[in-house]
Amino acid sequence: MICTNLEQTRSVIRETALKCGRDPQEVKLVAISKRMPAEMIAEAYQCDQIQFGENYLQDAEEKINRLPSALHWHFIGHLQSNKAKMTAELFQMIETVDRLKIARTLDHHAGLLQKKLDVLVQVNVGREPQKSGVLPEDASDLLRAMQSLHNLRVRGLMTIPPYGQEAEASRPWFQALKKISMKLADKNFFYDNKAIELSMGMSGDFKVAIEEGATLVRIGTAIFGERSL
Ligand SMILES: *Cc1c(COP(=O)(O)O)cnc(C)c1O
Repeated sequence: MICTNLEQTRSVIRETALKCGRDPQEVKLVAISKRMPAEMIAEAYQCDQIQFGENYLQDAEEKINRLPSALHWHFIGHLQSNKAKMTAELFQMIETVDRLKIARTLDHHAGLLQKKLDVLVQVNVGREPQKSGVLPEDASDLLRAMQSLHNLRVRGLMTIPPYGQEAEASRPWFQALKKISMKLADKNFFYDNKAIELSMGMSGDFKVAIEEGATLVRIGTAIFGERSL
């Protein structure tokens, strides 16, 4: 079941990329395994899925420690300073950095761990008060300040656009993130300005995200099925 879903999702990613003239290799699938048991993650790993995303630290810790160390974990939840140490230890990429204080704390812990931590800056493109993420106009100051944090590698940007019924509703938000990333690239604010990651698109709208330049799509439901709760 999970393998079938994975293969189906991979082929949609591939076809969508090819249709809009992109190299399919440029679009990586992050399987969002939040609230899914370790057994299901192991099943996805059997089908060559390496990158997984989790948003709840306690839950993730247990699973990460039980599963093979070859797995590559993305943190996609809200970051808390008092849990930065554990987050820096467990995850290879942190997608939700949105303020300088948490960036400094993560940098400090990465340093103690002698680890370079890949991070994305989360942008609140829809300016929704209930959502995390730096406001678009503040992104440049945040990235500028992060230049001195040498244990963090700012690989790109991430966004969760305002909820829309239709996938098309996400398009302007994805375009907005791409545009912000280009401005920041002009200032050489990314670790690798020629390979900027854009994490955007979920089960409902990842095709549109790929059309607008996504390099990481975060897909849960289409792979693991509906989450209870
Ligand atoms: C849950 C979640 C996803 C995956 O959503 P699906 O609709 O299940 O694909 C992607 N990104 C974030 C930040 C999430 O919290």
